[in-house]
Amino acid sequence: SKAWTLRQHFQGFPKASDFHLREETLPQPKNGQVLLEAVFLSVDPYMRPYSQTMMKEGDVMIGSQVAKVIQSYNPSFPVGCHVVSDCGWRSHWVCDGAELTPVLPDWPQDIPLSLALGAIGMPGLTALYGLEEVCEIKKGETLLVNAAAGAVGSVVGQIAKIKGCRVVGCAGTDTKVSYLKELGFDQVFNYKTATSLEESLREAAPHGYDCYFENVGGKFSSVVMPQMREYGRIAVCGSISMYNDTTPQTGILLSKTNKMFVLILQGKLRCNEHITSGFNNMPAAFMGMLQGDNIGKAVVKV
Ligand code: NDP
Repeated sequence: SKAWTLRQHFQGFPKASDFHLREETLPQPKNGQVLLEAVFLSVDPYMRPYSQTMMKEGDVMIGSQVAKVIQSYNPSFPVGCHVVSDCGWRSHWVCDGAELTPVLPDWPQDIPLSLALGAIGMPGLTALYGLEEVCEIKKGETLLVNAAAGAVGSVVGQIAKIKGCRVVGCAGTDTKVSYLKELGFDQVFNYKTATSLEESLREAAPHGYDCYFENVGGKFSSVVMPQMREYGRIAVCGSISMYNDTTPQTGILLSKTNKMFVLILQGKLRCNEHITSGFNNMPAAFMGMLQGDNIGKAVVKV
């Protein structure tokens, strides 16, 4: 078995030398336990701040994966079934069934299993929760979402469109901008090439924003705040622009699944994935996601 560990805490943007690939010998599974083999592993922004505050050097990188059961002493998880496990960046793992979430036995054939880490999983549910429970978004309202071509952002924008909203999105490349237009976003711009973020935001929604789905934080948010309408709502989801900072930015650090299947199967929700091949490429996939290589969810296929 192989596992990626944090060799040393990241200083600023992560480097390949901050990671270490370790060989492990796993114990034989006992009664109630299973042996897992990773199929898809997730790389997510939260791993960056988490590693700094919650991990010691030498710890295995945190993360979720879709894994296949290859040996089983637990009748609830027979050999060949798929599960979601939070066992980190590991190729194999022995654990109790209680630590596992089964992938539905009637998982639709047309939906890739990797989406259990994306639109059907944590990022998709984050999008849905933020829109419905935090923003309480209503038909006819104008929504702004940043990191809009990513795992969370692309679902946020599409669901807001389905709910009859006007959606403004921003992303860091022109290819992402074109992709978001294809998805039906009303106004999209590249925040890296815009001459003025403030003006681009104002042009996209001259009457201001009813809802802001906040993925980026920092200075970006400081520019958005004055453009929020009265009674506007903000879903504070993440602040990726600050995760690699060595000195704090001045700015604001703000800190239902079946529905998704239906939307995807009806073709109403498109789920692009940015798939990197090979367990050995976990660090490269993680660093690529942090610097914006991905359109849609970033995952690694073993
Ligand atoms: P993404 O798939 O969106 O990947 C990260 C994207 O962030 C990159 O592709 C890049 O796109 C963008 N980005 C990177 N650096 C910056 C920067 N300095 N300024 C602006 N954008 C930047 O990741 P997720 O969809 O998984 O996560 C998006 C946000 O949601 C993160 O902040 C994350 O922490 C948060 N999150 C929070 C959850 C919660 O439970 N609260 C759950 C899941 C995610 P670009 O090319 O556009 O710059």
